[in-house]
Amino acid sequence: IEIINEGLVEIRVPKFDKVSSSAPVFYNPKMEFNRDISILALQTFQEEIEREISICDVFGGSGIRAIRYKKEIDEVGLVSVNDISSLAIEQSKQNALNNNVEIDIYQKEANIILRENRGVFDVVDIDPFGTPSYFVDSVGYSLKKDSLLCITATDTSALCGTYKEPCIRKYNAVPFKSEYCHENGIRILAGFVSLTLAKYKKYIEDIKLSHSSEHYMRLYIKINKGSKATDDSLACNIGYISHCKKCLYRTAVKGLANPIPGFCPVCGEKLISAGPLWIGKLQNPDFISKMIQKLDEDNSNRKKLNTEDNILKLLYSCFEESNAPITFYDIHVICKNLKISAPKIADIMDEIKKEGYIAVKTHFNPIGVKSDIGIVRLKEIINSLV
Ligand code: SAM
Repeated sequence: IEIINEGLVEIRVPKFDKVSSSAPVFYNPKMEFNRDISILALQTFQEEIEREISICDVFGGSGIRAIRYKKEIDEVGLVSVNDISSLAIEQSKQNALNNNVEIDIYQKEANIILRENRGVFDVVDIDPFGTPSYFVDSVGYSLKKDSLLCITATDTSALCGTYKEPCIRKYNAVPFKSEYCHENGIRILAGFVSLTLAKYKKYIEDIKLSHSSEHYMRLYIKINKGSKATDDSLACNIGYISHCKKCLYRTAVKGLANPIPGFCPVCGEKLISAGPLWIGKLQNPDFISKMIQKLDEDNSNRKKLNTEDNILKLLYSCFEESNAPITFYDIHVICKNLKISAPKIADIMDEIKKEGYIAVKTHFNPIGVKSDIGIVRLKEIINSLV
């Protein structure tokens, strides 16, 4: 048994050599960052909806996430933790007891607990091994109006398009392995959620925060209900991204019924298309600034989180990119395409901004620049700086 201190709780998990799905009870210390952000996001959501929130951690593992939700979030009501493994359930019971926390503990298959509790939870947290795709239909059935879906995917190679077929099988979308494939991956997951929920007349009201970090992607999605709003949301936010491998031109195409362009308007090459995927916003700047404020204002009278500096770095980046256009330019990829060595990114961004375009960095890639400038003008600017 190993004792772990994280946030305000202390939990015990059986000691094991390697973090993997075959560990007797799953606890991943690397996900402390993810759990810390989740607590901040759920607290911010609770304050936005101004009522007590009930939460279900559908894939509980050691129970640490649910116990922390109960202990560290204000105005939290019922917290439920579920896991299919008996050992995980035993551990969750023991850990809840040791932390003096009352939570409801279930041992059910994830789809069953979701379907048996339709309209019960304000927040549903989906953190499985690998893909969450097998559970999204039940999420759609279960979620209520004005709720928050927190969803993690660790099958990033499928979402990023390392191999096409697994992504088509799991997410019914064609991926594209490009320099911005992590953004595409998050968009494919959000698109899949949006399209799956649509049959229940539920829709993504907005994505409060989304990020790709280490081996996973995570989204915080506000869900609402209504057939007209669902239709409108699909029409505005679902589409395709078309990309030219030869000259790096890219464009987003709105709607499932609209024609996808076949050839590049810049160089005439055949375009490659990824989707259907979410082409709407991936970040909500108001929500993110509230999360940032929370860390700032709380600073004096609380224990600093181990991951706080990294959280702030991520949140500032997500805030910055919240109003930037879809996809981003990877300066090194463009310079390779131009067969030149790369000028300083800061200089390129200054020149883009001088011309009145947006130029912001992105958390997806340290050498990525999000901008509304077209590829042709951007290449001219880069060439002029060499
Ligand atoms: N959320 C946990 C945390 O933050 O520490 C980690 C969860 S771990 C990635 C996934 C857990 O899901 C494992 O404990 C596993 O036993 C459980 N699990 C796997 N398949 C399941 C299913 N179909 N229904 C319910 N639980 C499942």
